[in-house]
Amino acid sequence: MKGFLYFFETIKGLLITAKHLIVNSFFHTLNYVFRIKTKRKGSVTYQYPEEKKPLYPRDRTLHRMMFRDDGKPRCVGCMLCVTACPSDCIYVKAEEVDGEKIATTFVVNVNRCAFCGYCVEACPEDAIRMDSGKLDFVGYSTNEMILNLLKNNQK
Ligand code: SF4
Ligand code: SF4
Repeated sequence: MKGFLYFFETIKGLLITAKHLIVNSFFHTLNYVFRIKTKRKGSVTYQYPEEKKPLYPRDRTLHRMMFRDDGKPRCVGCMLCVTACPSDCIYVKAEEVDGEKIATTFVVNVNRCAFCGYCVEACPEDAIRMDSGKLDFVGYSTNEMILNLLKNNQK
């Protein structure tokens, strides 16, 4: 009985594989051989890490700081992002430079970040964005995941 169940499940798996093979081959043939555009496309395998899957524009990736034309960060140290952050992972220090308040330290602890994007939404200066396109960030220690955006900006 057990052997029959294994045999049944194996056949089921092979049928699913065959279905994907036939459907994908059909759409690839239509799209690339006959140049017929269809709404549905055949599945594509990306050769990661050499070839990366394109990101949607609204995808949230690693934070980056925006800078003004004069090279100063747009961040004015209002702390709205710090207040909005549910993970308590932003540290901002601001000082008066040439008569205006400007962030001199802006640290994001990516170990704790939930990538919710609340910090971006809260910022009145459009100083912080999550469109760097970087998703493959790694490190050997948690310290390497603490980013100072004014020193090591992502874009
Ligand atoms: S994305 Fe969310 S969790 Fe991450 S720093 Fe911004 S507000 Fe905090
Ligand atoms: S990044 Fe924006 S919200 Fe956060 S402290 Fe700077 S100006 Fe304020």
